[in-house]
Amino acid sequence: MHSNETLDPKNWDAMRQLGHRMVDDMVSFLEDVRERPVWQPIPDEIRQNFKQPLPQNPQEPEQVYQEFLENVLPYPMGNIHPRFWGWVIGTGTPMGAMAEMLAATINSNSGGGDHIANYVETQVLEWFKEIFAFPSKSGGLLVNGGSMANLVALTVARNSMVDFDLRKEGLCSSSHRMLVYASSEVHSSVQKAVELLGLGSDSLRLISVNGDFEIDISALEKTIARDRQNGDIPFCVLGNAGTTNTGAIDDLDALADLCQKEKIWYHVDGAFGAWAVLSPEYSSRLKGMERADSLAFDLHKWMYMPFEIGCVLVKDEEKHRNAFSLTPGYLEHATRGVAGGEHWFSEYGVELSRNFKALKAWMSIKEHGIQKYARIIQKNIDQAKYLTQLIDSSSHLERLAPVPLNIVCFRFVTEILDLDQLNELNREILLQLHESGIAVPSYATLENKYALRVSITNHRTLQTDLDLFIKEVLKLGQQLTSKI
Ligand SMILES: *Cc1c(COP(=O)(O)O)cnc(C)c1O
Repeated sequence: MHSNETLDPKNWDAMRQLGHRMVDDMVSFLEDVRERPVWQPIPDEIRQNFKQPLPQNPQEPEQVYQEFLENVLPYPMGNIHPRFWGWVIGTGTPMGAMAEMLAATINSNSGGGDHIANYVETQVLEWFKEIFAFPSKSGGLLVNGGSMANLVALTVARNSMVDFDLRKEGLCSSSHRMLVYASSEVHSSVQKAVELLGLGSDSLRLISVNGDFEIDISALEKTIARDRQNGDIPFCVLGNAGTTNTGAIDDLDALADLCQKEKIWYHVDGAFGAWAVLSPEYSSRLKGMERADSLAFDLHKWMYMPFEIGCVLVKDEEKHRNAFSLTPGYLEHATRGVAGGEHWFSEYGVELSRNFKALKAWMSIKEHGIQKYARIIQKNIDQAKYLTQLIDSSSHLERLAPVPLNIVCFRFVTEILDLDQLNELNREILLQLHESGIAVPSYATLENKYALRVSITNHRTLQTDLDLFIKEVLKLGQQLTSKI
């Protein structure tokens, strides 16, 4: 007896109606976001709802959605809110959310084959190559984020920079330690990548930075020379186009010169900062980024697309493919039919099954046009400058780092407190800002000083949001000081 059971709805019209309700609710949720707290703590009774036994039997879709409305929707991270400036986290857009639904409905596997997802991905990669002045023949891949983009790029670098078949023989065929160089401000995902590649974190040489948190090029040169003398193999230098702590941009052109001279792979981590290339005022600061052998950047940070989407570009397409391509019989390319298509994206990265993340990039960029993104990125940079002015003109606020881009690190100060007390006070200011739902900055520790860190990759932020935020910091600082 064969069952006719499927996972499709019994009643398509009811599902359609429920879908309409969901769209209505979600659009309203975005429209009203400013009226709600940025974040709110999850009550205990809500947490308890996520300790239920495994459901054995069906529930009505409407009832499942009701549970979502009550138990999930009110307690998000808050990064869609105009006053969320924590870490480096994008906001998303209404069209981006809709595109996710469309992509999930088609549900194509973007790993390979001849179907439209691969053409959409090729199209957006062409656009990114144009934006970052990479040749059109470069390799490229959409990935889930900057961490994966760095891993893919470093894998290509590692495999390409040795004179034996590293994929086959492994690292044990390397007679010497293979080294990666980056400033001490480099993102932790790079250490993770170096560890995953079997190089060991000792093989990531952290180079000191100058007063602007940029890599010290002469220290880098000396370290490379010393390592070479010791017989080690410097194979990759990583430049930062926007560090996570302060938004510092390394001298990318000088790094390109050095890599050219030393015959070392040049990778740039431009997770968010690379996008400043769209700002006429800032593009010159990123000079040299286009000379990189590989470039990692995110779309879910400063391009405001919904999670997850990042990208890696590799100038030498063949090296990119050679690092990952593997085609057993069941993945052979056909000359016709669904298994056709020459270019299978699964041959350029770690993942075989891949969602259709290109769709939200394609739809978003078409919806707004790249010039609007340029204006909003510039707006965020200008907002960081405005915040800098507010801080610099207050005797109770101290800026703790230069503001080269969209990140501002500062703290509340008062003469009567010492370093430890100020650190404690500012930590408490941060927690109260979060818990009250007024604003979500994050934090950084710079030269032992605890900093409130505002990183603006938020298209919804208005100048008045920054005014309100500074007013609240001053109020909390004064209240807390008077209690000590
Ligand atoms: C966020 C970030 C990463 C990691 O990117 P994910 O998308 O979070 O994986 C890498 N480098 C820098 C500079 C970043 O800001």
